[in-house]
Amino acid sequence: MTPRARVSFVGAGPGDPELITLKGLRRLREADAIIHDRLIPKALLDEARADAEIIDVGKAPGRPCIGQGQINRLLVDAVRRHRRVVRLKGGDPGIFGRLAEEIEAVRAAGIPFEIVPGVTAATAAAARAGISLTERGSASTLVLTTGTGHTGALPEGLDWGFLARVEGTLVFYMPVASLDAIVSSLTVLGRDPHEPSLVVEAAGLPDERVVAGRLGEIAASAREAGVRSPALFISGPTVAAASVPLAVRRVLAATG
Ligand code: SAH
Repeated sequence: MTPRARVSFVGAGPGDPELITLKGLRRLREADAIIHDRLIPKALLDEARADAEIIDVGKAPGRPCIGQGQINRLLVDAVRRHRRVVRLKGGDPGIFGRLAEEIEAVRAAGIPFEIVPGVTAATAAAARAGISLTERGSASTLVLTTGTGHTGALPEGLDWGFLARVEGTLVFYMPVASLDAIVSSLTVLGRDPHEPSLVVEAAGLPDERVVAGRLGEIAASAREAGVRSPALFISGPTVAAASVPLAVRRVLAATG
């Protein structure tokens, strides 16, 4: 390992290449090696030095999936061969990004690291829909949670009673496969089926779509629209104010 070698875990933002921080961009431009996921804006790789080693560890259809253990080993190996390694992750690296496991691997190998935060999908999707995720009085709590567990089904151990009662905004990452189950778990335990909800697909990307509706109907509307990953599900009182930015192509049902 060369002196001053380190890993920078950099948040690439949610898809729009302009939504990376100045610090993240600087790290990318300086990097000797970049190890990136699939869901990162590919235009950002044009910022890399011509001689930088670029390693794609993203899962893609028809390609064997690189396991987390292998990614951890690649990271440690890259730092041993290079000085400045950027681990580029979609959105913010510390939100549903398995960052803790990679930090653990780097720490165990005695490698210094830093985290450069990024714009997470929740704030990007809210921005595209023209809503605030919190609001004085009606939404003083914001919950970021996941709709997909280790097995691909609903995560075990989510406290649905708590989620149903939260007076504020719920944001589910990776909700597409389990949207019906998410909605029924919430409404069965008392969340208002009339609450305004949104599904935001590919926020900030050219194929962005927003499906809006009441909580009780949103899963059917999203299915009808054929919503696919990456998408976020947002539900709460502040969603009522959603406007539809020009770039959003299709809204199936008004929230009002
Ligand atoms: N670390 C990332 C999240 C990784 S998990 C972040 O902070 O945003 C991947 C999930 O994030 C996707 O399944 C989807 O739920 C969400 N996501 C990522 N990019 C998105 C986008 N442009 N639009 C909507 N959801 C997105």
